[in-house]
Amino acid sequence: MNTGSMLEKTRLDLIVIGGGAAGMMAALQAAWAGAQVTLLEKNEKLGKKIYITGKGRCNVTNACDAEDFFKQVPRNGKFLNAAVRQFTHEDVTSLLAMLGTQTKVERGNRVFPVSDKASDVTRAFARGMKDAGVQVCLNTAVSRVEQEDGGFAVALAGGGALHAKAVVIATGGLSYPSTGSTGDGYAFARENGHTVTPLTGSLVGLTIEEKWPKLLMGLSLKNVRVSAQMGKRKIYDELGEMLFTHFGVSGPLIIELSSHMPEDFSAVQVSLDMKPGLTPEQVDLRLQREFAENVRKQLSSVLVTLMPARMGPVFAQLCGLSPEQMINQITREQRAAIARNLKALPLRVTGTRPIEEAIVTRGGVEVREVNPGTMMSKLAPGLFFAGEVLDVDAHTGGFNLQIAFSTGALAGRSAAAYVTED
Ligand SMILES: Cc1cc2nc3c(=O)[nH]c(=O)nc-3n(C[C@H](O)[C@H](O)[C@H](O)COP(=O)(O)OP(=O)(O)OC[C@H]3O[C@@H](n4cnc5c(N)ncnc54)[C@H](O)[C@@H]3O)c2cc1C
Repeated sequence: MNTGSMLEKTRLDLIVIGGGAAGMMAALQAAWAGAQVTLLEKNEKLGKKIYITGKGRCNVTNACDAEDFFKQVPRNGKFLNAAVRQFTHEDVTSLLAMLGTQTKVERGNRVFPVSDKASDVTRAFARGMKDAGVQVCLNTAVSRVEQEDGGFAVALAGGGALHAKAVVIATGGLSYPSTGSTGDGYAFARENGHTVTPLTGSLVGLTIEEKWPKLLMGLSLKNVRVSAQMGKRKIYDELGEMLFTHFGVSGPLIIELSSHMPEDFSAVQVSLDMKPGLTPEQVDLRLQREFAENVRKQLSSVLVTLMPARMGPVFAQLCGLSPEQMINQITREQRAAIARNLKALPLRVTGTRPIEEAIVTRGGVEVREVNPGTMMSKLAPGLFFAGEVLDVDAHTGGFNLQIAFSTGALAGRSAAAYVTED
């Protein structure tokens, strides 16, 4: 790290704040476009969040076409149009290949490094930036970004300030703050006149009113369907896996559902279908058959054929029955209640888990105040934004990193054009 007096006295071309996916991409592209770039990262190493992405394997992008990409962006997708089209998933994978990290495509078009190591992605960028002459300053936290004559003064938390013609803010959001994303960029944006929209977690577990999921903490259900309805409108309907937790529900289906939830949770009815392959009539026929074959047994012996053994007793109680209830004493109405709950067990969502546990931040720098064709602030010329600090987020599948890479590339190239234009 070198942020000594030499740097402080000179006016730099471009300072990139944040050495995550967006910042590293911005720095690299700006340097390739001819700018002299200094990247400031407060951590002791680059890309701390990248290390934990995709469970350490880094789902680096998604190899779908642009139309499908935008379907995975629930908010402000239009704002990303230029960025994503000018730097596509193919651009991400060819850039990584050029920097020595080959990728492979898996289920659902998810792209990972061939090595299955997220660290190879960060290493590729570090190598690229070194070769391109980017000056990387680690352990260097920025505390303020102020406009001044001819550019910006970037104050450092450790004292002193650097000066640059242009600045890219790529400080990430508020999720997983231990990786360095503690929301500093929102303060920098506000200091420069920007609006920051309300910040909450997306792609996160949901808290629910019912108490019974806590009894099943740690149990995951595979091949189930979770759907959500808002009035007559279906807002989510997917098959997959979910998990019961100490706070409510989580797992892939629920995490995905969280990004579809409106601000008012009370307007949404969520339901769990444990037999998605069967119609309600088929479920009832199956129950009739099982009951006929097990007349002298207890309900628990049939439930064990329909769900994980741990869930049986809890489920029986939800149907108003005891797991010890003899099958031959179960009434038609009670059988109907079992069938109903197998197909549509209600879950009343009360909220999301804290933003710190979320995969991404929902909300951020108001995109109407940023030029979508350049990522430059409409309020403070020379100030650029990239990545999660912006009010954009997407579903799981590599889309959030693609957003970071696309906005990073556009911000970097535009910033280079801005500083080298005269
Ligand atoms: C557990 C987990 C798994 C994920 N898996 C995937 C996945 O597989 N695929 C996918 O597409 N997305 C995934 N995501 C989301 C994705 O990681 C983020 O959307 C993406 O990393 C955002 O990149 P960014 O560069 O905008 O922000 P960040 O990666 O958060 O980088 C911001 C950087 O700025 C630095 N910084 C912050 N403030 C300052 C300051 N004041 N001074 C200097 N430096 C500062 C931080 O230290 C940090 O290094 C995952 C997220 C999590 C939490």
